[in-house]
Amino acid sequence: MRRRILVEGQVQGVGFRPFVQRVAVRLGLAGYVRNGPPGVVIEVEGSRRAVDAFRSELLSSPPPGAVLERVEASPLEPRGARGFQIRTSQEGAPGHAAIAPDLATCPDCLAELRDPTDRRAHYPFLNCTHCGPRFTIVRSAPYDRHRTTMDRFPLCADCGEEYRNPADRRFHAQAVACPTCGPSLRLLSPSREPAREGSVDPAPDAAPFRATAEALRDGRVVAIKGLGGFHLACDARNGEAVARLRKGKDREGKPLAIMVRDVDAARTLCRVGTQEEALLRSPRAPIVLLPRRPDAPVASGVAPGLRRLGLMLPNTPLHHLLLDAFDGPLVLTSGNRSGEVLAHRDEDARERLSAVAELFLTHDRPIHVPCDDSVLLPGPEGTTVPIRRSRGYVPEPLRLPAPLPRPVLALGGHLKTTFAVAQGTGVVLSQHLGDMDDLSTREALMDGVAHLCHLAGVTPEVVAHDMHPDYPTTRLAQEWERTGGLRRRPVQHHHAHALSCLAEHGGLDEPALAVVFDGSGHGSDGAVWGGEFLEVGPDGWRRRGHLAYRPLPGGDAAVREPWRMAAAHLEGALRNGGAEAARSFRAFRDIPSQRWDPVLDLIRSRAQKPMTSSVGRLFDGAAALLGLRRVSAYEGQAAMELEAAADPRVERSYPAPLREGAAEAWTWDPAPLFEGMATDLRRGRSAREIGGAFHNAVRDAITGGCRRLREETGIRTVALSGGAFQNVLLLAKTIPALRAAGFTPLVHHRVPPNDGGLSLGQAAAVRDIPSPPARTEE
Ligand code: ZN
Ligand code: ZN
Ligand code: FE
Repeated sequence: MRRRILVEGQVQGVGFRPFVQRVAVRLGLAGYVRNGPPGVVIEVEGSRRAVDAFRSELLSSPPPGAVLERVEASPLEPRGARGFQIRTSQEGAPGHAAIAPDLATCPDCLAELRDPTDRRAHYPFLNCTHCGPRFTIVRSAPYDRHRTTMDRFPLCADCGEEYRNPADRRFHAQAVACPTCGPSLRLLSPSREPAREGSVDPAPDAAPFRATAEALRDGRVVAIKGLGGFHLACDARNGEAVARLRKGKDREGKPLAIMVRDVDAARTLCRVGTQEEALLRSPRAPIVLLPRRPDAPVASGVAPGLRRLGLMLPNTPLHHLLLDAFDGPLVLTSGNRSGEVLAHRDEDARERLSAVAELFLTHDRPIHVPCDDSVLLPGPEGTTVPIRRSRGYVPEPLRLPAPLPRPVLALGGHLKTTFAVAQGTGVVLSQHLGDMDDLSTREALMDGVAHLCHLAGVTPEVVAHDMHPDYPTTRLAQEWERTGGLRRRPVQHHHAHALSCLAEHGGLDEPALAVVFDGSGHGSDGAVWGGEFLEVGPDGWRRRGHLAYRPLPGGDAAVREPWRMAAAHLEGALRNGGAEAARSFRAFRDIPSQRWDPVLDLIRSRAQKPMTSSVGRLFDGAAALLGLRRVSAYEGQAAMELEAAADPRVERSYPAPLREGAAEAWTWDPAPLFEGMATDLRRGRSAREIGGAFHNAVRDAITGGCRRLREETGIRTVALSGGAFQNVLLLAKTIPALRAAGFTPLVHHRVPPNDGGLSLGQAAAVRDIPSPPARTEE
């Protein structure tokens, strides 16, 4: 029998065709495999048993970098074919399949790296079709060496042979390189002088690593060029070095990631279960947020106030060699000042990082596209919450359940921004670009849009963006509407969060409920939303409930200073001048009147002021009241510390009543919650206990709100989205409670619940715009 098998997904540039050929030859099948839109096409001919075995092996053990999204088989007439060939792809064919993400060094390459007899022994840039740089070195599509930053390294005879041999692991590995023909390493001082000479070293390549390791052990900060940009590195055990690195980055408080040599080293710092080990070892090599051991030998300044550490394993041969030489936990954090875009060009990096870095471990393979490390959080019940989806994932496409009527560009929000380009059912999310306050990140967004549209072969007709009138992304969309003739589509922030979660689960065409809890998003009524109960369906959405409004005293100042939210909530909760009573709590006793009084005036005045239903601010207020954090160094800090402080075993809760609202929507009244916490504090109960009960109250508000929504709508599916659902304790309490109440909770597993996932939801929102044929009158 003969069959044609179409495979769609991440199957190009990951060694898929050689793998297909090996399997086919082993099973005695004839036929061919070739790349070509929209994925890989295979024809096999042989006995039914062999063809079946072939198909099941394809599905069960594809190469590490491959992601099979759709496999379709159709029967053909046998032709008596002989032999199995890899056919060359039709270049430039329309709708070429996507470029693969950058993948961490594979086990075969790692073995070569450490084999002193291999011609690539200790070579920091070895790779093969299963691993190495992809997205970050591609200048244009389709993926071919002369369109990457490897074009400046002509292949030597040996590498060329491997590249052309279909049986070789490096067949068509576009970044293939060796010490003879490939990139080379250099260790520089900020003034560009070679830092040290390794002239009498028997293995010259080892010298820069030894020198770097020595400098790190001496407590120095080193800039290291990685796959997607420069990192700043220092010894994670050295508190002084960590403090210096933080100062140089202008980054206070925010946790720093650590690279460790292997899983055994990870175990000395954190508790690593089987799920966590698999995440660490994945070819995507993300940062995994793991529960920290109390005796972990890491400086307290690495992740102050938190119970987790972000760990990752080496993702390139360069990092393997460095960790072999250093052999300890290494802080490895993105090379930029807080808020700026990641430095990825050598000159730029030297200029921006030389104030903090005393050495530069770099090389001459240019990075075309900067790409930060990805971050994953292992959640309850084997779930994994993406916190940042970037290196190792981008530009792998996500699939919508039904095709979009028009090609879309979705610009995301303001913080943790990603954008998306979408066509048909495919959505390609960009790498993490960061907060749009900085000019450099806005420029990176504009460059990134042009590049990704080209790579994905998409010419957008619609630009989707957040409804917020003042976001730079909104102004950009307006500009593109004027100058580029794009049709503009504002999408409400929390609606986009909800759609993002539903799109991941293929649930866009069924009515669903959504609980969207986050820091802030522009509401349809102009208020700052963030505690929303929505009904979402194919025809639109409705806000059915929300956390009752409270003043946001001072706007942005209230985001930076959680004590202001504590005052706003206590004023709403306590009779007889709540905010005044607030000053008697230990956490606030030393705040002078000059600071309290204007805030009290703001809260009590009848003047126009921002009002908010934000659950992020609810967490802030609670954390401040419990004395955990009065002023935040970064968005979400107080909430993370409240989670870390809370005792998960507490069963007590505070009341979370729902009340009829003035408008259509009902509200969750937070007054009894703050009243209860205030009473417990006065009784001398601990922050651990009160924090645990606080989480239970938020859980009860969610389940209570969902029950009410079910009564109103009959819907049982609940999407949980928004930054508040990066809280593992809240997830661990909420998911089983919703299930016990008869709901089907959906949580994020492909894109972040935070604003990094907004662009997917915005793209999905455009599915109701009519297709071109329906708009002939325009
Ligand atoms: Zn490899
Ligand atoms: Zn070579
Ligand atoms: Fe949000």
